[in-house]
Amino acid sequence: NLSEKLQRSFKNLRGQGTLTEENISEALREIRLALLESDVNLDVVKQLIEQIRIKALGTQVATALSPTEQIVKIVNDELVNILGKDTARFKFSSQPPSVILMAGLQGSGKTTTSGKLAQWLKKGGHRPMLVSVDVYRPAAREQLAVVARTTGTSIYEGKLDPDTTHGTADVLRLAKEAKRDAANFGCDILIVDTAGRLGIDKELMDEMAELKKLLNPSEILFVADAMTGQDAVNSAKAFNDLLAITGAVLTKMDGDARGGAALSIRQVTGAPIKFLGTGEKPDAFEPFHPDRIVSRIMGMGDIATLLERAEEKLDRGKAENFAKKALTGEGFTLEDFREQLRQIKKMGSMKSILKMLPSVGPFAGMAQAAENVDESQFSRIENIINSMTNKERQNADIINGSRRKRIATGSGTTVQEVNNLLRQYSQMSKMFKNMGGGGGIKAQQRMMS
Ligand code: GDP
Ligand code: MG
Repeated sequence: NLSEKLQRSFKNLRGQGTLTEENISEALREIRLALLESDVNLDVVKQLIEQIRIKALGTQVATALSPTEQIVKIVNDELVNILGKDTARFKFSSQPPSVILMAGLQGSGKTTTSGKLAQWLKKGGHRPMLVSVDVYRPAAREQLAVVARTTGTSIYEGKLDPDTTHGTADVLRLAKEAKRDAANFGCDILIVDTAGRLGIDKELMDEMAELKKLLNPSEILFVADAMTGQDAVNSAKAFNDLLAITGAVLTKMDGDARGGAALSIRQVTGAPIKFLGTGEKPDAFEPFHPDRIVSRIMGMGDIATLLERAEEKLDRGKAENFAKKALTGEGFTLEDFREQLRQIKKMGSMKSILKMLPSVGPFAGMAQAAENVDESQFSRIENIINSMTNKERQNADIINGSRRKRIATGSGTTVQEVNNLLRQYSQMSKMFKNMGGGGGIKAQQRMMS
């Protein structure tokens, strides 16, 4: 993946503290190659590189991040920028049935995706109907009929004389009938699977334009095979110029597609990627999460590391100050204790950090674990320390029974919670003292983890 390549090729940049014009240029050469290898289209790569160059040159020197890490972060942010932060919304028309027009080259996965979409919509409480307007290949219409049967979806089959040749007029007639049929049967969505194209074929493109005019679809989804990488861009552009697509579906993401097509399509059409196809079965389908594809391109482990490093940077001065006290075991006050809590809070809530991780592979289940983190505990402890006088914070020994009562009342907690905190604090300072010289920082990390 990109991040690995960057790490490898940037080895020689290590040790240099800052981003200079020179090492940025060197890095950009590598990024360019890496993006091309990730199947991002050449023109898109050029644009990206320029944006990254501008950002990198304008970046303040951040001491805790190496030049490599700074650039990886900039690239990451830029990719997220292009793809958008959030999952795109799916549009419905106010007048049912909403029509979803499927567009794309032959073999891209339109028919398969039509079935997946139907299934996904049904799960969401909708009543979709399918129709194939591929009048040129009986096998194509039969394929959709099979999909409809296996997913238990309504389908409008219509009538076509098998002995005559068919054209756009039949396509439009079928589409019109299907829309009426959907309305009659109380289906709120009509998914229109269209004829395949081997390339950008004028006749079939005109037909698409007419279908759009006739059906007034709320979604025009461009279906692209993620494995086609570079080529996806040209067809995406052609379809978008003609139809103004509302979104794209990237299929075959279960293969070793690198995800570059997502970036290219988004950059060239401006339309969001809305779904991913991840297999041949009807349920191998999911809404597109921009951050996940960026992880895929960049390498997910590195992003996690990077975040950690960035957070570290935020707190560095104070952490060093704390480490000094922890190392000597002298002068560790409740004031310092409170500061540590604030540092942890600054790293973002544990919840938000855990949720940033992809929900696949080794990270599966993390998001769920995040639900169980009790963030309020941090605030309660901080409130207790806030309710102490300066003198008390500097010298915990003077906090007697009546002071404890006052602090509990002032912080809206109980005497028992105050006692717990003081015990924790005293254990911590004792531990630092015992360790005297070495290991203080490690101990802190153990305590805080
Ligand atoms: P169409 O010509 O655009 O209608 O494409 P099809 O829906 O017929 O799909 C072409 C081939 O790609 C079929 O063999 C599908 O099973 C396969 N296919 C479609 N989507 C996916 C996917 O997400 N993953 C995998 N592995 N195969 C897919
Ligand atoms: Mg098809």
